[in-house]
Amino acid sequence: MDDLSAPPAANIQYETDDPVTYTVEGRTAWLMMNRPKYHNVQNSQMTYAIDAAFQRAVNDDNVKVIVLGGEGKHFSAGHDIGTPGRDVAKTFDRKLLLADHVNKPAAEFLYTREQEVYLGMCRRWRELPKPTIAMVQGGCIAGGLMLAWVCDVIVASDDAFFQDPVGRMMGIPGVEYSAHGFELPPRIAKEFILFGERMSAERAERFGMVNKVVPREQLRDFVAEMAGKLEPQNRLGLWLTKQALNHVEELRGKRTAMDTHFHMHHFAHAQNDLTTGNALGGVDGKAMAAANKKQAGEG
Ligand code: ZN
Repeated sequence: MDDLSAPPAANIQYETDDPVTYTVEGRTAWLMMNRPKYHNVQNSQMTYAIDAAFQRAVNDDNVKVIVLGGEGKHFSAGHDIGTPGRDVAKTFDRKLLLADHVNKPAAEFLYTREQEVYLGMCRRWRELPKPTIAMVQGGCIAGGLMLAWVCDVIVASDDAFFQDPVGRMMGIPGVEYSAHGFELPPRIAKEFILFGERMSAERAERFGMVNKVVPREQLRDFVAEMAGKLEPQNRLGLWLTKQALNHVEELRGKRTAMDTHFHMHHFAHAQNDLTTGNALGGVDGKAMAAANKKQAGEG
């Protein structure tokens, strides 16, 4: 196995059966990541639960708008690289036409898995036919960025910050869904990955990565009000509008740029594996969190 830190499927211990909660208020579906104990880090259990919740919201004609948020202090601290519920070696029913990764050797294991659960899923979510709003508080780190970036609108609380530390920590040029250069001006995107430092919501708003920053205690109400403005609008019109702007990004080369990056990302995973015996370069969730806190002057 190329990823020595991945527990065998039999040893996985989920702390919840509901890693995502789903409620509908008015004509807005609220998808809330629900692993607050682990700052909503994303294991496959959560990935497929998010996908199922998006599917549910798409299927419900009453739902016009979808909000994606996270319970607890942080929106999402990224991919699960260290909880007892880390389920990298577990088989799930794929949502794309891809083979199971679990029995694949060496670099093929992660490459196959991440085509499905990261790149493939994120593209699938970005293209769903209803407007989506990311509601971001606290940390939105690495894999957490991908979840916010697939949404059409991002609202952040004033305590939110954005960070991609995988370059600095793992020698990997940014997370799998590489929207960095589309979300930020190129020079800022380079800074973002090269230094892997926290970007405040206020600074992110200046570059257009965030639509609106509001006080933490007003976040949910603000998002609900925003969603409420879209609820009476024409369903097809909402879909066409997001598609039109998604096409602009495609014309700017988003898909090709992401594919190019994805292969570099996996070249770096493979290099880590060859040099350290671990595709993440031996970095787990604890080491990542400690380094990030130290860099931010918190410990
Ligand atoms: Zn990866």
